Amino acid sequence: MRETDALVRVQEIDLALMRYKRTLDDMPQTKKLLAIRAARKKVASQLSKIVGQRKDVQMDLDENERAHTRLEELVGETQQKFESGEVGYRELANLESQLTVLAKKLEKREFQRKELLARLEKVQQAENNARAMDARLAEEAEAQKGSYKEQTAGIERDVRMLVREREQVVASISEDVIKRYNAATKRFGGLAVETLTGNKPSVCRVSIPPSSFGDIRRGPDITECPYCHRLLVCDHMFSS
Ligand SMILES: [Zn+2]
Repeated sequence: MRETDALVRVQEIDLALMRYKRTLDDMPQTKKLLAIRAARKKVASQLSKIVGQRKDVQMDLDENERAHTRLEELVGETQQKFESGEVGYRELANLESQLTVLAKKLEKREFQRKELLARLEKVQQAENNARAMDARLAEEAEAQKGSYKEQTAGIERDVRMLVREREQVVASISEDVIKRYNAATKRFGGLAVETLTGNKPSVCRVSIPPSSFGDIRRGPDITECPYCHRLLVCDHMFSS
């Protein structure tokens, strides 16, 4: 393949690929998938907060249980002393008041435990809801992916063919021209190569005056348009 033909073809392929990409990006499934991804991210951050809360409540419950056990042990020991019959009257009264204090502390711990259990239930419910929401979103994403795949199978096939063809075509173009083409593609948003019809470049369509036109005809096959600075393929004036 001649380099000039290859360059023109590469541009055709790239423009087609850009059109396909736009079509794919504009598919309603693509937008829905983006929305689902954002929603899942939100749910994930909520979930990590909820899990943190749940772990805190569980730790508080463990702590409550340890304190409760310790208090029960103290009650047992105090009760034993109280009933041993080995302590005097004054000590007995002291132990009795200690038992009252311990009973109040136990009551307080039990009340706290009930509160913590209620909070745990609430947090667990929130966690279940978040997980269920994430599962629903994941399912919806799969459905959207399936429908996208079904509707874009033809495009994907064409894209694969074009990408393969591009690899072959690019092999006929020198590294220097490819570099210039890549730079021009970036600069002009894709439309980087012009051909000539008579003395008119195909994109900017500014007629080249005879004086410059002679220079261009005598110059290299691939040059630069003096007006818009796109790559100008010149030998096409003989074939087109
Ligand atoms: Zn031009």
